[in-house]
Amino acid sequence: MNIGLYFCECGESYVSDFLYKEVHCLACQSVLVIETNPTRRQLSMLSKDQLKQLWNLFEKVAFDPSTEEITERFLVWLPSTNRFIIWLWFGKLLKRDFIELPGKLVWKTNGCVTDFVCECGRNIPAGQSCYINRTKEKVLCADCGQRKMIDLWLYLGYENPWISQANDPFFTRKSFHLCETAEELIEFFHRGNWCLGQAYIYKNLVFINQVNGGDEYLTIKDYSPFESITFQAVLRRGNDYGVAYIKSLLEHEIEKESGPDNHNPIIQALV
Ligand SMILES: [Zn+2]
Ligand SMILES: [Zn+2]
Repeated sequence: MNIGLYFCECGESYVSDFLYKEVHCLACQSVLVIETNPTRRQLSMLSKDQLKQLWNLFEKVAFDPSTEEITERFLVWLPSTNRFIIWLWFGKLLKRDFIELPGKLVWKTNGCVTDFVCECGRNIPAGQSCYINRTKEKVLCADCGQRKMIDLWLYLGYENPWISQANDPFFTRKSFHLCETAEELIEFFHRGNWCLGQAYIYKNLVFINQVNGGDEYLTIKDYSPFESITFQAVLRRGNDYGVAYIKSLLEHEIEKESGPDNHNPIIQALV
């Protein structure tokens, strides 16, 4: 991938997706030399907008979906690097702004008022359930949206100090199980004793077990982690209460949620 990075002695830096041969610094007019082998330190000095520009380029980097490893070099990261290591790097520098980059995807049960075409080419008729990417103003079909959501949920899990330590098995795409009904979800919570990182999806809610053999679930709605729930306490009040409780989570308003404050990721699951 062609990425033009230029670091000027005056402190200015430039990012482009084209390799310019003859360029001058806008601030001091010095001739700029392209940096082909940047250091992490240089990258961490880039501005927020430049990082966003790099993220757009990173989204085009090829990867193997079965291993999540990139198959071409990206800046300081060599082929075979797990792409979530790079997500965490962006997340650490951009903090709360990071979630805007993959896009604030939201599930719409009743679909849109007009027809749309997903980026995969599939037609999404009006009224059919779909995902809306609020940041990029795109509409995605259920399959494409879910794939992107799982990327984001994997990132949120790796960012969590407990889930990121899952190693038997590791926390991966395969950790997610899709439940068709609230009753099916409750059945899983009843069984309990799940391994660390086991995750259940129901509509746009996801529950990721944070305690090995335990019962404490990081609860995420769409793009926002907002709660840690112990289900044994909920289920003691009966299955009907459990179903009503899950329905209330579906109606929970996440717009103003800031999410739990875990910005000290341990990424053992990735290395
Ligand atoms: Zn300069
Ligand atoms: Zn699609």
